[in-house]
Amino acid sequence: MSYPKIIQNLINQFAKLPSIGPKTAERLVFYLLYRPQSELNQFGEALEHLKENIKICSVCFNFSETNPCHICADHRRNQKIICVVAKPQDLTAIEKINRYDGVYHILGGNINPLEDIKPENIKINDLVERIKNNSINEIILALNPDLPGETTSLYLTKLLKQFKNLKITRLARGLPMGADLEYADEITLENALKSRQEL
Ligand SMILES: [Zn+2]
Repeated sequence: MSYPKIIQNLINQFAKLPSIGPKTAERLVFYLLYRPQSELNQFGEALEHLKENIKICSVCFNFSETNPCHICADHRRNQKIICVVAKPQDLTAIEKINRYDGVYHILGGNINPLEDIKPENIKINDLVERIKNNSINEIILALNPDLPGETTSLYLTKLLKQFKNLKITRLARGLPMGADLEYADEITLENALKSRQEL
């Protein structure tokens, strides 16, 4: 026996999301079927308007309601230090520790030969341009301690050596291999940032 089409359709939509298999998708849809209509409307509206008022910051590539984003526009922050992260959630993880007053650059992924992600597919050229045009003092590489993260860090370290007065640092090795920055606890992340090492 199969589900009514409208139910199956929503199951299929949920199943497209990362780390949601068909069984979880089913569970979510049946959960929603027992919720009041008003709640479903709120959910639907949030989804419908998700991208309408969200811009991508043309400086750091963070999602934001303004362009430039509030971090890039904040001149109390040190605009000469750029922390390079792979994804917006990593920026949020670092912002949460409240100890970093520089700005960011979101690459939008890591170099990953297994997934055919090459340097030109992520925001590396934009980073180089940004360093060139803004006499940046320091680049902090805050990429995950896993294979794609290490590959990207190594590539960037070599590439950025062309800037003679640029200090290149990376987070200290307090994060376990294979960890995801996004889920690191605040104390570990704070220590990794504080004792960052020059390359
Ligand atoms: Zn920005």
